[in-house]
Amino acid sequence: STASVQTDVTAADARGYRGHDMLAPFTAGWQTADANPLVIEKSKGSYVYDTNGKKYLDSLAGLWCTALGGSEQRLVDAATKQLNSLPFYHSFWNRTTKPSLELATELLETFTANKMSKAFFTNSGSEANDTQVKLVWYYNNALGRPNKKKFIARSKSYHGSTLIAASLSGLPALHQKFDLPAPFVLHTDCPHYWRYHLPGETEEDFSTRLAINLENLILKEGPETIAAFIAEPVMGAGGVIPPPTTYFEKIQAVVKKYDILFIADEVICAFGRLGTMFGCDKYNIKPDLVSIAKALSSAYMPIGAVLVSPEVSDVVYSQSNKLGSFSHGFTYSGHPVSCAVALETLQIYKERNIVEQVQSISPRFQEGVKAFSDSPIIGEIRGTGLILGTEFANNKSPTDPFPPEWGIGAYFGAQCEKHGMLVRVAGDNIMMSPPFIFTPQEVEELISIYGKALKATE
Ligand code: PLP
Repeated sequence: STASVQTDVTAADARGYRGHDMLAPFTAGWQTADANPLVIEKSKGSYVYDTNGKKYLDSLAGLWCTALGGSEQRLVDAATKQLNSLPFYHSFWNRTTKPSLELATELLETFTANKMSKAFFTNSGSEANDTQVKLVWYYNNALGRPNKKKFIARSKSYHGSTLIAASLSGLPALHQKFDLPAPFVLHTDCPHYWRYHLPGETEEDFSTRLAINLENLILKEGPETIAAFIAEPVMGAGGVIPPPTTYFEKIQAVVKKYDILFIADEVICAFGRLGTMFGCDKYNIKPDLVSIAKALSSAYMPIGAVLVSPEVSDVVYSQSNKLGSFSHGFTYSGHPVSCAVALETLQIYKERNIVEQVQSISPRFQEGVKAFSDSPIIGEIRGTGLILGTEFANNKSPTDPFPPEWGIGAYFGAQCEKHGMLVRVAGDNIMMSPPFIFTPQEVEELISIYGKALKATE
């Protein structure tokens, strides 16, 4: 009612800002109930502080992105230096800047799961995935295959929230009332063994069945209409879902058989999150195209990129030469400040052996939290490296969720917050992806707060 809006507005005003002025992303009830946002004011290492000075362990690294934590002076210095010498110049029409050229080279050298020959810069993961679709269409048009245009993504995937990225995503909330997904996108099975395996089915059998389902979908649609398959190595926002044994091996065989491009969405997994430089390294994925963002700059500046294999880029290049240009890009594609920060970030990952650092702290993180798996309200705890999901379930059963109105996940999240830790809550799924710089003490603190919040929720 108007009265309750008024009350909230007054409350927010009393704290010196008005939460209701912002149409906040992925936020419910922005006019009333949630017009009282938690306002984060500063960060230090793996912690953030709100406007009341309360300290929180940031178990999600911002939004799966501040891999080097919240106070890496070298990144501030890299940005400042670039801002002082050249805050901006674009990369259109054969003009560009040194940081963008250097970053492209660095990325092609860093990604070794398959040969990549070009890097295209965006400002975000969503733009990277939009770019993928346009590149693939352009490629198939150049090859004289105008009907090979459909994309296959997976249920529960998250690829971003622009029109195309939201269409690729397999989360109903991103489609409902937005007239999505776009008709060129098809969704195949989510590879979540615990939830979807049949009685008696092994992980390997489950993977085989999913590969057969994918092949049947391709055959039903006509292989000549399917352009690309897109997948996150470990699904993130869909609830942290690592692939079952042999899944990617079998899926890749199907995709290859029908001349379908494989796009690895590494926006969360890249740069060490899984204890390998890329998710593709961990699961032996040989993609044709790769999307990255987030940890690329440790989130100090917005930047994303698409890595393109020579097979695709050669075709795109010869076509663009014929047409006069590759007419796609953003004002801030290759923004020099973002690129300078990303270059410094990659340098720090190298100097600090970030992959080994993740490997050294992740076993205790995984085991410490998974030790709570016996809780009567937990269905499954799953993850690898520095990414972990908890799913609450009635009777520990994948087919027996708690009534949504109980708000189990939200209650657990609020308990974590009360005890000084921020987690991501999505329904009855809890997600964590701490910064790569997490110390053993911070891992213990995370486990301890998780335990307290769980006890209060039980
Ligand atoms: N792809 C994946 C796997 C993601 O997790 C995300 C964001 O969480 C995106 C794409 C979209 O990235 P952005 O929010 O930078 O547009």
